[in-house]
Amino acid sequence: MQYNKFMNNRRETLSVKVGNLSIGSKYPVRVQSMTNTDTSDITETVNQVKQLADAGSEIVRITVNDEDSAKAVAEIKSLLLQNGYSLPIVGDFHYNAHVLLSKYNDMADALDKYRVNPGNVGGKDKFDKNFENIIGIAIKHSKPIRIGGNWGSLNKQVLDRLVNEKISENSELSYSDITKKALIQSVLDSADKAVSLGLPRDQIIISCKTSNVTDLHEIYRELSKKCPYPLHLGLTEAGLGRDAIISSVAALSTLISEGIGDTIRVSLTPDSMESRTEEVEVCQQVLSAMGIRNYKPRVISCPGCGRTSNSYFVELSKSIKSYISSQMPDWKRQYPGIEDMNIAVMGCIVNGPGESKHANIGISLPGNNEDPSAPVYIDGKKFTTLQGDNIDNQFIDILQSYIEEKYS
Ligand code: SF4
Repeated sequence: MQYNKFMNNRRETLSVKVGNLSIGSKYPVRVQSMTNTDTSDITETVNQVKQLADAGSEIVRITVNDEDSAKAVAEIKSLLLQNGYSLPIVGDFHYNAHVLLSKYNDMADALDKYRVNPGNVGGKDKFDKNFENIIGIAIKHSKPIRIGGNWGSLNKQVLDRLVNEKISENSELSYSDITKKALIQSVLDSADKAVSLGLPRDQIIISCKTSNVTDLHEIYRELSKKCPYPLHLGLTEAGLGRDAIISSVAALSTLISEGIGDTIRVSLTPDSMESRTEEVEVCQQVLSAMGIRNYKPRVISCPGCGRTSNSYFVELSKSIKSYISSQMPDWKRQYPGIEDMNIAVMGCIVNGPGESKHANIGISLPGNNEDPSAPVYIDGKKFTTLQGDNIDNQFIDILQSYIEEKYS
């Protein structure tokens, strides 16, 4: 999907300012992530926010679950700003938002947005008072709120009401349908309540997460018809590794292609602290694969087949790809627009020259029993044929010269 087509197809929303970033249908789909550090550990949290921001996260959410975390927030924000990281920081609250936001004024002021889950604001007797308190603080500090429902922590009052309606009306809705309805109703009721308490409508973002892809699609299609607020998309508790990535991509890409979704997050269970940035890379990859936003040059490479049964193609292709990855941090700074470049690295001459002609620059490496030569195409035209033992280095030299000439 090309960018203009995507923007024309986008569901129209209000625009919400979160810190220095605008969110909504007039703006690019924003990539979010969340830290998994103990927020009271200021150094660890600042470092992880920086890592996520360096990887391309445009908004980072941090947990604010207790007094120690709340006390740390203002310093975290201040250290980030001192280090040149001005991205919005969002506080994630459950159960005690009203207490912490009231008690720690500097934290309420330092955060760029508050995320509250209507299922965790307080029981029947306390919901109204606690919610009113939170919204009052958001109004006082001019902060937007994400009203974020979650399948795993439904607002019980709304669920009970819908179950009672089902019983009294003898409705044929299944329990699963009622649960989805309750999730949608709970965030929309909370948004209405926030507006009635005085929160401007352009300070509200909505999310309704489930761990099931089909349910998520149904819920968001419904939400997109029923409210004007920007929507944050994400499959919650997606799980580990490849399964989680595939489910998340299926969840996000379908909705995005329908014009639904203004910020996205992929929730992966990390297998190490180092891999936290993977969730950012997956989000970027989704947007890039859909032709909506590019973050780095796209390397188009064939999977190889019986024509490349020796290791020559694999080694050359790996070496070219690893060069591109290693250069990207510098290229991004030095060569504006480089993220839109396409580089083809193909295994033989069957599809190699054709694919290379479509790319900015492409090489077809020699397959089995082919001459040890590699035709290179630049901007659709044959540029040269490389030969010898160091085809990879020769190609890298040509690539570097092309980039300097085209993007400097
Ligand atoms: S380009 Fe050549 S090596 Fe690559 S998959 Fe196609 S036929 Fe096989």
